[in-house]
Amino acid sequence: MNQTRWRHCVRLLSSVGIAAAVAACGRSGTGAANPLGAADRTGAPAPEAGSASSVPSAGSRSGPGGGPRPSPAPPGPGSGASGARGQLRVAFLDVGQGDGALVLTPGGKSLLVDGGPGGAGPRVLQALRTAGVRRLDWVMGSHPHEDHIGGLNDVLAEVPAVQVLDPGYNNGTATQRKYLSLLKQCGAKVIRARAGQTYDLGAGCRLEIAAPKEPLLTGTDSDANNNSIVARLVYGRTRCLFTGDMEEKPRTHLLDSAASGSLQADVLKVAHHGSHNGTDAPFLRAVAPQYAVISCARGNDYGHPHREAMAALRSQGCPILRTDERGDIRFTSDGTQVRLEGGRAESPARAAALDGGEPAQTPGSGSEGPGVPRAGQVIGNRSSRVYHQPDCGALPDSDRRVVFESATAAQTDGYRAHRTCNR
Ligand SMILES: [Zn+2]
Ligand SMILES: [Zn+2]
Repeated sequence: MNQTRWRHCVRLLSSVGIAAAVAACGRSGTGAANPLGAADRTGAPAPEAGSASSVPSAGSRSGPGGGPRPSPAPPGPGSGASGARGQLRVAFLDVGQGDGALVLTPGGKSLLVDGGPGGAGPRVLQALRTAGVRRLDWVMGSHPHEDHIGGLNDVLAEVPAVQVLDPGYNNGTATQRKYLSLLKQCGAKVIRARAGQTYDLGAGCRLEIAAPKEPLLTGTDSDANNNSIVARLVYGRTRCLFTGDMEEKPRTHLLDSAASGSLQADVLKVAHHGSHNGTDAPFLRAVAPQYAVISCARGNDYGHPHREAMAALRSQGCPILRTDERGDIRFTSDGTQVRLEGGRAESPARAAALDGGEPAQTPGSGSEGPGVPRAGQVIGNRSSRVYHQPDCGALPDSDRRVVFESATAAQTDGYRAHRTCNR
């Protein structure tokens, strides 16, 4: 970022001010894993500004605008001072294999929850431009995996953020270093998100942090995933739950410790792109979503969404909306009801296909169904340089995976076979 842009960021920061209202913030300065010196640079968040009113004021309401899917249009006009009054808008952007959601509050504030992988940066920027967002009031990077913050790096290089919620987990990647450096350059206030905090987004909207807790989880299958920020966006009586790539351990903790009803949400962003380790029936019963959103790429290398998660979601009986099938998925809320723009949920035909337990073919997706690795492909672990069959139970974390067209190709690259799945 050049000097001029940096000055611009600083000017914006001082003109916008810090509007965070934090209840029970609990920022312990002891998070050993936290790489974010910046978190303390701007001092403690503002004191509690009072809980958001539970019912939004009956302000003027403008229509939802925006065309039906699969138009890549972002969630309507507005941000900054021009949000659609009375309407909260949440758009799960089609960022390919990753997560990225743009929230526009009725008060004209913007919140970007993740930004997809690196390649999705231009897509997210386009959505911001169309929505007229020239600065992001809030950014929530759920966790430092590339499919969540890679695109944020492209975004932050052009659009400054004022306040950033971060789990404070350091996975030591170049992507995360760049992310932290960009946050610093644009003068963003970085806040360590911890369970129990509430952030007032204005106009009756608030963000309740459900995870991670202090101390962060260690020794899990993926500590980066399992320390994801889990947060519930509340507007009036409507709620949307963001879950990052949370897996089993934090999910179990949440179920054990969350106050009754505190996980309930009209819209659930299904954890970990519909991975088998991201979703189970007890959690879905606690959330009781009206809509479940899965963010993943068509024909992705991980087989997302996994059939176990789909089965649990189907048992819950709510429509399952997938970015790989629908493109952007957009909701509006007037504070009493959530409405899906474009209106159509999973088709009965598709549901029937899924009831057979097989990933369904997506028209136009070529010879492969979504999530089905092509015959012969193997998945390598960049760290250990071991390759696995796609159905191996010991596949590496997504950010360490590399897909080879064949075992021979993997061997040529110096990878050796995982004995368990390559007998
Ligand atoms: Zn992910
Ligand atoms: Zn992840």
